[in-house]
Amino acid sequence: LSTASKTLRIGLIPADGIGREVIPAARQAIEALGSTIPKTEFIDLDAGFEYFQKHGKALPEETLQTKTDTITWNNGSSPSTKVAGYSSPIVALRKAMDLYANIRPVVGVSASGKPSVDLVVVRENTECLYVKQEKLEKDSNGKQVAKATRVITENASRRIGEMAFKLAAARPRKHLTIIHKSNVLSITDGLFRESVRDVSKGWPDVQVAEQLVDSAVYKLFREPSVFDVMVAPNLYGDILSDAAAALVGSLGVVPSVNAGDDFVIGEPVHGSAPDIAGQNKANPIASIRSAAMMLRHLGYEDAALRIEKAVDTVLIEATTLTPDLGGKATTQQCKYQGERIETLLS
Ligand code: ATP
Ligand code: MG
Repeated sequence: LSTASKTLRIGLIPADGIGREVIPAARQAIEALGSTIPKTEFIDLDAGFEYFQKHGKALPEETLQTKTDTITWNNGSSPSTKVAGYSSPIVALRKAMDLYANIRPVVGVSASGKPSVDLVVVRENTECLYVKQEKLEKDSNGKQVAKATRVITENASRRIGEMAFKLAAARPRKHLTIIHKSNVLSITDGLFRESVRDVSKGWPDVQVAEQLVDSAVYKLFREPSVFDVMVAPNLYGDILSDAAAALVGSLGVVPSVNAGDDFVIGEPVHGSAPDIAGQNKANPIASIRSAAMMLRHLGYEDAALRIEKAVDTVLIEATTLTPDLGGKATTQQCKYQGERIETLLS
């Protein structure tokens, strides 16, 4: 592919809260790459809770229909109580584009060059409790009973397994841990575990282990170096990756991509952080790293590495960190912005 002839169309969806502060930072990082990647065109797209409040829809049809090569997205607010007519737009987008894997690397940067934590959580993205089939019933005494359906399929478990093995095979340790709770949920988690185990036959170079989700969280905090790649059903993967984020200082530095066979969306692991929104102190690193991952998935490895190296340098220098990492810098002062990132990237 000639980089000169192609234009890379990148959709930007800041959604809610700090998205408006951190997604522009990701855009700046991509812009600073210059000719490492093809000419880029950024397309602003709508979605989120605020959009829903104004227009009655969380994910407009126009956003779904706009053709882009990739999207960088900040997860919108999810109200903790049910709001009539609202459902999470990222869940809908993942479904519409069949982005069945959420890949979340958690890497601690240290001056010595050897990361304190270096693992990847591969989270199944389409099923488990996220099928959102909940209902409220009454028992014989008229008391409320809430029920949720959890769906695990052989197909989805196998394909997330394939994705996880492929990732593990490309890493130096080539180690994969299957996360489940099949001692309690023997049918659903049993199927997940068996399906991924079966996929392992095609990856003889990858060492396979398994761990119950509760003890995996314990181990994660006691001895994170045990883990290389972890593959988990949707809900466990969500919880594990937020927990793992605590090991590297802040949710504000942990990126992810939602990946399918044909499309990818970069998305920081954090949400809209309403508690700090609009205060110009959100950490933009998670979004910038998500942009790098997104570029890697599109085949621009050099570009991804350059962004990641620039971010690592800033973390090691530790002179312009945002408050979540103990610093005083604003999102704007953060050195990833403007000229500074250009210097780091050059
Ligand atoms: P949502 O419903 O959108 O997920 P939330 O209340 O769960 O909102 P998160 O965005 O998940 O909020 O953030 C959890 C905590 O981590 C918050 O206290 C938030 O301030 C902090 N946090 C998240 N992202 C960042 C960031 N980029 N920079 C600094 N702090 C962050
Ligand atoms: Mg959250």
